[in-house]
Amino acid sequence: MASVEIVSIGTELLLGQILDTNSTYISQKLAEIGVDVFFKSSVGDNETRIENCIRQAFERADIIIVTGGLGPTVDDVTKNAVVKVLGKRLFLNEKILEKIKNNFKHRGVSMPESNVSQAMIPHGAIIIDNELGTAPGLLINHNSKIIILLPGVPREMKAMIENNVLPYIKKHYHSDKSEIIKSKVLKVFGMGESMVDAKILDIFKSSSNPSIALLADTTEVKIRLTAKAKDEIFALKLIAPLEKDIRNRLRDSIFAVDDETMEYVVAKLLLQSKLTISVAESHTGGFISHKLTNIPDSSKYFKRGIIAYSDESKVELLKVSPEAIRLFGAVSKQVADAMADGVRRIANTDIGLAVTGIAGPSGEREGKPVGLVYIAMAWKDSSICDEYKLKGDRILIKEQTAQLALDVLRRYLLKMQNVK
Ligand code: AMP
Ligand code: MG
Repeated sequence: MASVEIVSIGTELLLGQILDTNSTYISQKLAEIGVDVFFKSSVGDNETRIENCIRQAFERADIIIVTGGLGPTVDDVTKNAVVKVLGKRLFLNEKILEKIKNNFKHRGVSMPESNVSQAMIPHGAIIIDNELGTAPGLLINHNSKIIILLPGVPREMKAMIENNVLPYIKKHYHSDKSEIIKSKVLKVFGMGESMVDAKILDIFKSSSNPSIALLADTTEVKIRLTAKAKDEIFALKLIAPLEKDIRNRLRDSIFAVDDETMEYVVAKLLLQSKLTISVAESHTGGFISHKLTNIPDSSKYFKRGIIAYSDESKVELLKVSPEAIRLFGAVSKQVADAMADGVRRIANTDIGLAVTGIAGPSGEREGKPVGLVYIAMAWKDSSICDEYKLKGDRILIKEQTAQLALDVLRRYLLKMQNVK
């Protein structure tokens, strides 16, 4: 099977001004059809360095996919560098020039002289039409290898990958023995990376197809299962028993799969249970309400969100007693409980969820450090409240609190579902 090297061109990539999302996208698409990418390179808008980079890529890959530097400006030198490597020259292609001119005419402006460079192509190149812009893509055979030049503009590049490059690779490089790569991600909340690792270490070690990888994010750990098989159905069949084994060990700590978010999962459970919710937030400043209302149809379960930031607002809007605040402080179990109960009564919902905490970096008091957070949940017959000591900066503490609060809600809703 052929291997690919991706070359991303643009000085802005090396300066860290933009992310190289093009190569990420191309890698994903190639993985889906089972094509190996062994190398990726990034190089600035410098003809000699691009030339060297492409020479090296030809030594170690069968297919080279280049993005960027096909624009009309002086810093767009990809084609000049490539033809040097190929020992070819660029010629004006009248047909492409006509197309580019028409493109400008259509917009009611005349074509700047610099755009002529986009119609310069090497002899023998296969032209990839650009439906969304002016620079055509090019595919060139060279010593039984191929090099494909694509524009840097992501939507133009993507259209060419989908419509031209992938079909070409499938047609010319696929055999009956070709295998695709399929991944499934299990998302874990409430356990650190090392704890997850300890629980599944033996599975981890004994499985090579699917292979397992752990990825730790700010608030979650992802377990990625990747299978290689002749098609997606077979790959999923390989993943299924392993997933079952992992789920048996981590149970409710696995909250979602693939791209699902915590709020998406909670919303689904709320809709299924037909329960309504209101939220009272202090240090998260509306973040939990924001997350819950990001999901379509949230009006079916989300009734009210109150940001009660000051002590007075907790008294005025949530009917928290001033004595409780004076005796225990605004960041306390008693006040969190009263906030959850208050919002539930005022909004007349099945569930009231409340958070209060110290996001820092100031605000630390005797016995109440930055990161101290209380999360309370009240429903008709009862309530719960938990204390957490979180670490991180202000934003991370807000983010962690929101995820924790949603997770408390998720576990409650799961329990309710199992009781029924
Ligand atoms: P270029 O074809 O080099 O003129 O690139 C046009 C535009 O596409 C640039 O201004 C970038 O915004 C974007 N772009 C170029 N290369 C990449 C890349 N590797 N990943 C994401 N965006 C890119
Ligand atoms: Mg550029």
